[in-house]
Amino acid sequence: MLSRLRSLTVLLALLVVLPVTPARAATPELPDRIAAGWRTDRIYLDPRLAPAFPAAELTRIRTAASTAAFGVYVALVPQSPYTREHLVDLPTLLQARVGQPGLYIVRVVSDDYWSGEEELFRAGGLKGRSLVSVQLDDEKRYDIIDNRPAPGIVRTIQEAATAYDGRPLPEIPGADLEPEREDRGLSVTDREDLSAYIGIGVGAVAGFALTLWLSLRRKRRKQDPRGPFGKPSVSVAQLRTKADQYIRRADRAIERPGLRTKLSVRQLDQRDDATRRLDAARALRNRQPDDLLALAGAFVLARQAEQIAGGSPVQPPCFFDPTHQPGTRTVTWQDDVEVPGCTHCAQALAKGRRPLGLRVWRKTGRFGHDREIVSYWNLDPEDSPMVATGFGALSDDLPELVAERQDEPR
Ligand SMILES: [Zn+2]
Repeated sequence: MLSRLRSLTVLLALLVVLPVTPARAATPELPDRIAAGWRTDRIYLDPRLAPAFPAAELTRIRTAASTAAFGVYVALVPQSPYTREHLVDLPTLLQARVGQPGLYIVRVVSDDYWSGEEELFRAGGLKGRSLVSVQLDDEKRYDIIDNRPAPGIVRTIQEAATAYDGRPLPEIPGADLEPEREDRGLSVTDREDLSAYIGIGVGAVAGFALTLWLSLRRKRRKQDPRGPFGKPSVSVAQLRTKADQYIRRADRAIERPGLRTKLSVRQLDQRDDATRRLDAARALRNRQPDDLLALAGAFVLARQAEQIAGGSPVQPPCFFDPTHQPGTRTVTWQDDVEVPGCTHCAQALAKGRRPLGLRVWRKTGRFGHDREIVSYWNLDPEDSPMVATGFGALSDDLPELVAERQDEPR
């Protein structure tokens, strides 16, 4: 009787709340508002941003969009709890509302930082490459400035055009790139960081990596901003292509005539180091041709082999995502842990954002039948030398660990 009375009280409470709820639900959701806006203008600028939005930026986006051979839909919105939670799905949600093929770009601004998601939807039967694979090959895209939206959006439209019909990517204008760029060589601090990276013995590094892992693992239960959904950062096929490409490049660099004859001791060491890394890259690529972690490891090792064979110092990968530019910056991450990061991730961290990193599938559930998407550092380091070493970002002993595993029975 008492419990019935309670249910009644709850029911009454609900009735009191109810009249308020429909009024709130009447505000259309963000995707509906954007889709409605696109009916008159395919460049949607959120009314809250409009007063202060630079006209030149808008003109540049319009011009780039109007010259594309496919429909370009752009949404410029402020960061909100909704975008924080659903950004990764927004292009798909929006395309479902519009129902047209084309390039869907969503850009979100918080303070003066623009970030976002994009997806290229093609009409059935069209050939071409995926947008992500073009972006992976577009090595300077992480150097594009992000305090204005147009540079990144214009580049995305160009990348989509390349994905669409294979045309070559144009150069990025200098004004769209970050002033301190990596391609002019490493700064003095970078070199010092790198020599520290190379100089530490394997034993010391293993101890360091362990301490690091313990502190990283404490963070494992922290909520991932994108949740366990979405998709891996890169597909297996794309990464396999990339790994194969760099294995061929490293092979050519090692086999070139200058590195075969009349070598100094230093050059011999370099060639041996490059060969060791290339061997490990091949082993990973051939033993696990369908494994995202192994292919990313193969790519990183082959890229290092090519660098070393070319006489450059070895560079650690970006800890957050080994497919990024090398980790030429030392960045402080959670719990004051220092890791190598690429320029892009270093800038994100400096602005207080946590990079999502390389996102991969993880088996969950009692029998491992379910899977979820996680940043790779949430995987068990015991299961993979790539995870244990951060693809060589935390300790430079990935080639040895791969070679050891090769001797183990499979
Ligand atoms: Zn990075």
